[in-house]
Amino acid sequence: MATSLDLINQAPKGTKLWLLHVGNLECDEAWFKRGGGTSTLSNPHPNRERRKLIMVSVLIEHPVEGLILFETGSGKDYPEIWGAPINDIFARVDYTEEQELDVQIKKTGHDIKDVKMVVIGHLHLDHAGGLEYFRNTGIPIYVHEKELKHAFYSVATKSDLGVYLPHYLTFDLNWVPFSGAFLEIAQGLNLHHAPGHTPGLCILQVNMPKSGAWIFTTDMYHVSENFEESVPQGWLAREHDDWVRSNHMIHMLQRRTGARMVFGHCTKALEGLNMAPHAYE
Ligand SMILES: [Zn+2]
Repeated sequence: MATSLDLINQAPKGTKLWLLHVGNLECDEAWFKRGGGTSTLSNPHPNRERRKLIMVSVLIEHPVEGLILFETGSGKDYPEIWGAPINDIFARVDYTEEQELDVQIKKTGHDIKDVKMVVIGHLHLDHAGGLEYFRNTGIPIYVHEKELKHAFYSVATKSDLGVYLPHYLTFDLNWVPFSGAFLEIAQGLNLHHAPGHTPGLCILQVNMPKSGAWIFTTDMYHVSENFEESVPQGWLAREHDDWVRSNHMIHMLQRRTGARMVFGHCTKALEGLNMAPHAYE
C-alpha cells in the first residue's frame, strides 16, 4: 500500500490510524445513485435495488495532538432518536453492541474519554449523532463554518430537517468552526472543502508515514460508483454544480497522492482493509 509519490505534509512518525465500524444501514439505492430504479417505457416497473451500507469513523493517534476522531457515526439508540419514517427508510441492520462508538474505540486500546479533538466532515445524522458523547466535555468539535450554519438553519427552519437533527445540534458542544477551502488541522491531516452533498462538507486527507495517503470522503461519495464512474447522488443530492466541481478536485487530489479512498458508506471499498483493532501506520 505504500506509495512512491512524495507527500508534501506528512503525519509525524508514530502516527496510527484505525478504521472503526460503527454500524450498518440498508436503504433503496436511488437515495445515493442518480436514476437508480427509474422506470422507462420498456421497463415500467423495474426492480428497486436495496443496498447495505456501512458506517465508518476514523481514529488517529497523533504524536503531537493526541487522539483525533473523524466523524462519530449515529450515536446510541439512533433508530428511536431518528423515529419513523427515517428509521424505516434508512434501516439499522446486522446490529451488535460491538458497533457502538465507545466500544470500537476500546478495541484500539483507547477510551472515548481520551479523545482530544473531533473533526466532522458533514453534520448529517449518521455522521454526527455520536457527538452526544462529547456534551459538556469542552472537547473541540471542528466543522466547516458553512456546515455548522447550514445544519442549524436547516433544523430551525425545517428546510432540511430529517438529515440533520436537533438531538446533537446543541449548545453544550464546543463547536469550533473553520473556513476557507483548505486547512491542515494537524500535521499530515488535511481538510478540503468539498461542497455538493452539503454546503460545508469537507473531506479528510491523511498522509501516513508508512501506508501513504488516505482520503476519507464522508458522503461526498456514498459508494464507490459515485467516485469511480462519477455517478452523482440520487435523492440525497443537494447542490449539483458544486458536487461536479468537488468531484473534479478530488479526482485530481487522488491522482496526485495515490491515495486510498474510503467512501461514506461503501462496503466494497473496504474489502482488503482491516478494521480496528488493526492499526495502520
Ligand atoms: Zn451518510
